[in-house]
Order: sequence, then C-alpha cells, then structure tokens
Amino acid sequence: MKIIKESDNRYKYLSKLFSYKYSSMYKYFPGYTGPCIFIPFELVLSEYETCDGSTKVSFNKLEDYYNWVSCKSIKRILDITCRLTVQELFDLTVLHINDIDDRPKCPICGTSLDWRYGFISGYGSADPWNSHEQKCCSISCANSLVLSNLDKYPIKSRSQQKFYDSQWTPIALTKRMMNTFISLGDPTDEIFFYVTYTKSGYFKFGITKDLGDRIHIDRGDYIHPRIIKTLDRISAAYLEASIKLEFNGEEYLSPTETSKFFKIFKSKITKPIVNPF
Ligand SMILES: [Zn+2]
Repeated sequence: MKIIKESDNRYKYLSKLFSYKYSSMYKYFPGYTGPCIFIPFELVLSEYETCDGSTKVSFNKLEDYYNWVSCKSIKRILDITCRLTVQELFDLTVLHINDIDDRPKCPICGTSLDWRYGFISGYGSADPWNSHEQKCCSISCANSLVLSNLDKYPIKSRSQQKFYDSQWTPIALTKRMMNTFISLGDPTDEIFFYVTYTKSGYFKFGITKDLGDRIHIDRGDYIHPRIIKTLDRISAAYLEASIKLEFNGEEYLSPTETSKFFKIFKSKITKPIVNPF
C-alpha cells in the first residue's frame, strides 16, 4: 500500500522527500528534553498555530525554528498538519520508500521489523537508526546472520537478490531513488547535475530540474551551488546513482572527498552513461 498515493498532490514531491536524510531530520534545541523532528514543507497540508497564535508548522517558512516539532508533540501535530504517522514520516524521509510493503524485514526469516521506538531509533531496536547496519527481528536471527555471513558476502541467488532489493541497504535505496526520479518526469527533461558545499559542513552532489527550488527545500543549507553538467532525465539519474554507489549510497560527502568525487565524475562522463543496476 502506498503512503502518498498518486492522486495526492504531494506525490510530485516524492523525489524531494527522498532527498532528505536521517541526520537532517532531527535536532536538539535548548529548553527541550528530547530531540525535535523536522516536518518537510512538501508534506504540509494545513498550517499549525500554537496557542499564542504564532504559526509553527507552515508550507514555506524558512526560519530555523519553523517546522521543528518536539518529539512529544510530533505524533499529534504530524497528524493535524500532514495526515501522516511518525512511522510514515520515517519511511518517506529516512528509508525513502513510499510503499509499506518495502518496510524493513529481518534478513533471515523475513519478519517485518518492529516499529515502536520512535523516529530516532526507527525500526527493529531502540538503538539510533543506522542505515548501514542490518537489524534482525530477534537475537536468534541476529546470531544466524553472523553465522551465515550474509551481511559480508555478495548475495548470489535471484530470490535472495530480490529480497535484498526490497530492503533499505544503501544499494537498494540508491536504486529506488533512481527509479523514482526517472518516473517523476519526462525522459527528455533537462536536468542539472550540481555540486555544493552545505552550511552543515558537507560537500553535496545531486540532480534537479530546478536548482532554485532545490535550494528552497533544503532550507538555505546550500552555499554557492554550481551546475557541472546538464543532461536528460534518464542519463542524469543513471549518472547520479552510479556515483552514489562509489560512496556507499551517500550524496553528502566529507569535504576531503571532493577530489575523489571529481575524479569519479570525470571518468563517468567520458564514457557512455548506462544504468548501474
Ligand atoms: Zn528474523
């Protein structure tokens, strides 16, 4: 079942929602006991005002404190403003999935992982979420995973590959985001491949149809974004995904990886751009 249905106006923002990352979705503010969670502008259906009449959750306000909601009220305010659950927010912005069938499953027995620890922990256990770590449904499955070494060695059989494709591994996510980007427009669209430094201290690369729009949704986090190539939609999606795979699915890199990025980028664009999957 889809979380954001095709008939929903927000469906066209899926690729933007998929570009959020876990670490940019929560923040600790002075005076709050727990973290605050960010509600992306693209999801807001109705604005929310606090009891003193000030707007708290909005469609487009860019100030730092807008759309950040304490973890105590996130469930209620997310329901009022977006008609979504915290779990669905996590699916869209951290796992980058829009189908509840794609939710994380135990890699050993296939049981769906528990959702009961809140946004910071995500699925499976109370530890903070880590997309590079395979969580299991139980201690016995976790032991089997270690014994089978499934997490360390390449998957051979097709059925296992199919199963892994539905998971949240960096490779599966990269593939899903690539296919979503392709499906959200016309193959002949003119797409910009850009790089930028961010105020949060990263070197970031990405693709977009409208760079002005991208800067807007990233809450002004970009410092001097620069277009380094213009391509059609499909080539842009293939190129971005193939570079992400070189960085374990990441598009936010350490500034020390900048030269590695440009080396890879140059080698990719001097050859025909193909589907990396
Ligand atoms: Zn299991």
